[in-house]
Amino acid sequence: MKAPTDHTTNLKHLASQVLDNVNFESVKDVTDIVVIGGGLAGLAAAKQLSDQNRYHFKLLEAKSRVGGRTLNQQVTTTDGERHIVDGGAQWVGATHIHMQSLIAELGFSTFTTPQEGEPISQDDLPAQVQNELATIRATLNRLAASLPIHAPWLAQSAQAWDGITAYDWCVGQGYSATAIEELDYSVRSFLAAPIAQISFLFLLHYIRSAGSIEQLEVITGGAQDRIIKEGAQSICLALQQQLAEHVQFDAVTKVEDHGEFCLVSCQSGQVILCQRVIFAMAPSLLGNIQFEPPLLSNKRQLIEQWDTSEGSIKAHLLYTRPFWRAQGLSGISFIPNEVLTSTFDCSRNSNGPGLLTVFVNSSDAMRALSLDERKEQVLEVLSQFFGNEAFEAVDYVETDWQAVPYQRGCESPLAVGKLTQFADNLKKPLGSFHFCGTETADIWTGYMEGAVASGYRAAEEAAQALDHQLFSL
Ligand SMILES: Cc1cc2nc3c(=O)[nH]c(=O)nc-3n(C[C@H](O)[C@H](O)[C@H](O)COP(=O)(O)OP(=O)(O)OC[C@H]3O[C@@H](n4cnc5c(N)ncnc54)[C@H](O)[C@@H]3O)c2cc1C
Repeated sequence: MKAPTDHTTNLKHLASQVLDNVNFESVKDVTDIVVIGGGLAGLAAAKQLSDQNRYHFKLLEAKSRVGGRTLNQQVTTTDGERHIVDGGAQWVGATHIHMQSLIAELGFSTFTTPQEGEPISQDDLPAQVQNELATIRATLNRLAASLPIHAPWLAQSAQAWDGITAYDWCVGQGYSATAIEELDYSVRSFLAAPIAQISFLFLLHYIRSAGSIEQLEVITGGAQDRIIKEGAQSICLALQQQLAEHVQFDAVTKVEDHGEFCLVSCQSGQVILCQRVIFAMAPSLLGNIQFEPPLLSNKRQLIEQWDTSEGSIKAHLLYTRPFWRAQGLSGISFIPNEVLTSTFDCSRNSNGPGLLTVFVNSSDAMRALSLDERKEQVLEVLSQFFGNEAFEAVDYVETDWQAVPYQRGCESPLAVGKLTQFADNLKKPLGSFHFCGTETADIWTGYMEGAVASGYRAAEEAAQALDHQLFSL
């Protein structure tokens, strides 16, 4: 393949005229576009730039691995046989079209999320509460559908809905405490935060972006439809391999926008001269980077105020077989307690080893325990659900996302007032900067699908801006 046209001579000339000698001498590398962040969004942006082959680019990742919130972990049998489980993102939804085509293009495969057998859940809800929940879901879907998909903050009732929490809205509608509790449990499963902390407008935006609340909740046909056999991080590792020397492991500490060129400074001391920068990370993580000139006040406030939720501790247990299936159980449980919030079966087949995904309660009390103590508590609760065989786990691994560097948790729902005040600047380019990451996605925000789509969007934006910039020189 022919290399993209080299624009670096002109860029160096421009920089040499603007920078003093010391700063100009510090520039060690010159490229057209720098992508910051090697999660799915950044890798998708880099893939698109590579496929289009119009511009030179580099991708910088702060950790020593790509993948961001995807993470392949291994559990090992007593014979030393290793199996991959997803320490981070796991499920690919039925309508996650960008993810599905990436999986196929890279030669990976998926399997349907196992769910034959009975789930373990609370006692059946009274018919009256079930009817109420059906009304709540229908109302949420109807209100969500009324939001402009690219700018939910412009909805007619945006100010009012952003001024209250989802909990306030439920109470205002007169729903029963049991129905509200059920909705709260459901929302926690996909936003990892209680409805009393989430702006009602943000919840509607999240539902709108997925299509319906059922899309977020259900397994078959919904967001939890299937699992990547090789582990979700394999997508990122394969992209890293394809992108080869374009990927570098170095944390970006400072980015300067000088108009016709930018300087990207890294922890190692390297400085890259480029024309466009794509930021591919959760908004709150932009706060670790120094901007010159400082970002607009609205963008700064968005970054400062975009808290991540408590995050989750995600664990996996390995058994010699999925023993729960013989009891007619699906391995799925939805009984929140002080130790865990839910479990899922992710065994590849019935004859092979049993793999159980466990979302551990991320309370301070659970975090204060050692890994062995936490495992013990998890096994104790699992034995109440699935019997004493639960104690026979062969291996246990977990990831506390709050403790992972350069991640700061997993989901990031917005609290009251922030979407209408600051989100206008969420994905809008600023000067030479472009922004992606799952939080900026219109469709399937919060999911791998949203991350990939946002990366493609930002790459297109940056390439078009560069076309325009070079054409008008
Ligand atoms: C426990 C858990 C379970 C999940 N389950 C699912 C699921 O089942 N299905 C699903 O679709 N989604 C799921 N998700 C969400 C999914 O993981 C994310 O939506 C997606 O991976 C986000 O990708 P991203 O590229 O936008 O951000 P990230 O993956 O966060 O990538 C951002 C990258 O930027 C890097 N970075 C940050 N600061 C700097 C810097 N200064 N310099 C250089 N690099 C920097 C980070 O190290 C990181 O690699 C889950 C997430 C978690 C944590």
